[in-house]
Amino acid sequence: MTTTADHLQLSPAERSSTDSAGRRTYQVRTYGCQMNVHDSERLSGLLEDAGYDRVEDGDVADVVVFNTCAVRENADNKLYGNLGHLASVKAKRQGMQIAVGGCLAQKDRSEITRRAPWVDVVFGTHNIGSLPALLERARVNHEAQVEILESLDVFPSTLPARRESAYAAWVAISVGCNNTCTFCIVPALRGTEKDRRPGDVLAEIEALVAEGVIEVTLLGQNVNSYGVGFGDRLAFGKLLRACGEIDGLERVRFTSPHPRDFTDDVIAAMAETPNVMPSLHMPLQSGSNAMLKAMKRSYRRDRYLGILDRVRTAIPDAAITTDIIVGFPGETEADFDDTMSLVREARFSGAFTFQYSKRPGTPAATMPGQLSRKVVQERYERLVALVNEITWAENQRSRVTRSRCWSARARAARTPPPPGSPAVPATTGSCTSPRVDMPTEAPALPVRRLRSGPATW
Ligand code: SF4
Repeated sequence: MTTTADHLQLSPAERSSTDSAGRRTYQVRTYGCQMNVHDSERLSGLLEDAGYDRVEDGDVADVVVFNTCAVRENADNKLYGNLGHLASVKAKRQGMQIAVGGCLAQKDRSEITRRAPWVDVVFGTHNIGSLPALLERARVNHEAQVEILESLDVFPSTLPARRESAYAAWVAISVGCNNTCTFCIVPALRGTEKDRRPGDVLAEIEALVAEGVIEVTLLGQNVNSYGVGFGDRLAFGKLLRACGEIDGLERVRFTSPHPRDFTDDVIAAMAETPNVMPSLHMPLQSGSNAMLKAMKRSYRRDRYLGILDRVRTAIPDAAITTDIIVGFPGETEADFDDTMSLVREARFSGAFTFQYSKRPGTPAATMPGQLSRKVVQERYERLVALVNEITWAENQRSRVTRSRCWSARARAARTPPPPGSPAVPATTGSCTSPRVDMPTEAPALPVRRLRSGPATW
């Protein structure tokens, strides 16, 4: 699976359309967040299950799949640029197919085959399991196949997977989001929140551990609302505690929490479950109550800071990181000062900082009070300077503390800390932050099929 960088070489395009074993080959190019990385592992698993072999980055495959993101600025221009580049490759390579899936496909639908008629398959976020069948139908019918569902067909985690890491795995606990943040396109493209049953999640984790995985990251657009779908508001804390009971599971992380739904039982579960890492990545977005209201982020700065206080009381070594948007429409200098003061007070260990820019299809894109690039840039630079100053000081201050706590937690979890690890690697990423690539040095793994688990705790 490649990342956002494209590494096309034309020479392999003229080679045979199969690999040395006579099988057709594939490549998945992934853009965007951790959920897309998770979905791409499923796309790879599906294709391998259907008889395709993966090619190395830099080679051209018989089937190239773009798993797209609509959150990034100019995502569509980049996609069409990449598709344009592949058109000439496809023209020289008999039988080559191109598929486009993910959030941008869900958003643009048949617009993709109109602008890039050499694309063979367009599929959405709700039907990634259809990819092999759509490729086959396009091949037999000599006609592009566009299939976009409005709601989830099969939960992606139940599909076969080809994981990128031997020891770490993403585990989706929910898909979609019930919030309506005005800068975010995710709810429109991923739909409302659908929760997996806890028994299914735990069965997947146990199966992963049996395969040698020692670390899982629980994924959801809003992990703190997990359970709303089956009527248990305390489900996420219970899930963390249940992860603590799984022998051989050494590290548990999660992303992303939402301050509105963050409850004290989750803090207690984090503190009392030895294999849950002492880290929290909780998106702030703005320190101004007026901006939070305009963003439809239904918490205020006091609530956010209160959660941090309680987390630090329960987990003194917690590494806390965040996401912040600068220059949201209508942001005044006073609003920005509120963000700066909150950053000083919160003393984050790290922060992803973003300059606001319009995302077509979001309410914020048409709001009055859009700021000039110059103003946004100037505020952004001030924020980055402050974040750097504070995170450097925080990491210096806590280096020794965390090293001690690492050892204590590791002993509690009956596992040694990673060699030479002074600080806890923060869980990063959120519904809006860039993804963090899992280490990929591990050998390729076979496609994994999920055994189904009980539907209850
Ligand atoms: S920013 Fe996150 S919480 Fe808000 S709507 Fe988007 S996915 Fe949901």
